Amino acid sequence: MNALFLDRDGVLNRLRNNDYVKSPDELEILPGTAEAITICRRHFDLIIVVTNQQGIGKGLMTEADLKAIHAKLQESVSYGIDRIYSCPHLASDHSFLRKPNIGMALWARRDFPGLRLKSCTMVGDNSTDMLFGRRAGMRTVLVGTNSTSATDRPWLVDLCFPSLLHFARSL
Ligand SMILES: [Mg+2]
Repeated sequence: MNALFLDRDGVLNRLRNNDYVKSPDELEILPGTAEAITICRRHFDLIIVVTNQQGIGKGLMTEADLKAIHAKLQESVSYGIDRIYSCPHLASDHSFLRKPNIGMALWARRDFPGLRLKSCTMVGDNSTDMLFGRRAGMRTVLVGTNSTSATDRPWLVDLCFPSLLHFARSL
């Protein structure tokens, strides 16, 4: 069984300038996201979101806020995401759950017996996501750019696309 692992902010929804998405109102789904998820569902057994949300650890939002944000996200992609894992811990906590550590990938493997991480793909918009994918043995896809020269760690990146929809259409 394979899965498409997706980062959230900057992949499914627009990044906010130096701020977290703290409420459903602040969640702006990127154009093409719903179509991309529809296409990706035909190519992967599971669609899994893995997202660092240290805004919770900082006390800027609550778990209930995050739940409401993810309800809106799911609604906007016609409930096409199988599972959303999030890490609320501060970067300074050095949590094993926080990307680039692979805790959330192992969590998914526990929840979905038969999932082979080596057959999975990780899509993200920064090198933290790429390192997470590499460490978990996945193929890595950087979105938001056309070229590995746009990243400071090109050796972590297998493929680059301007958006998730561009990636989906390449499948
Ligand atoms: Mg991101």
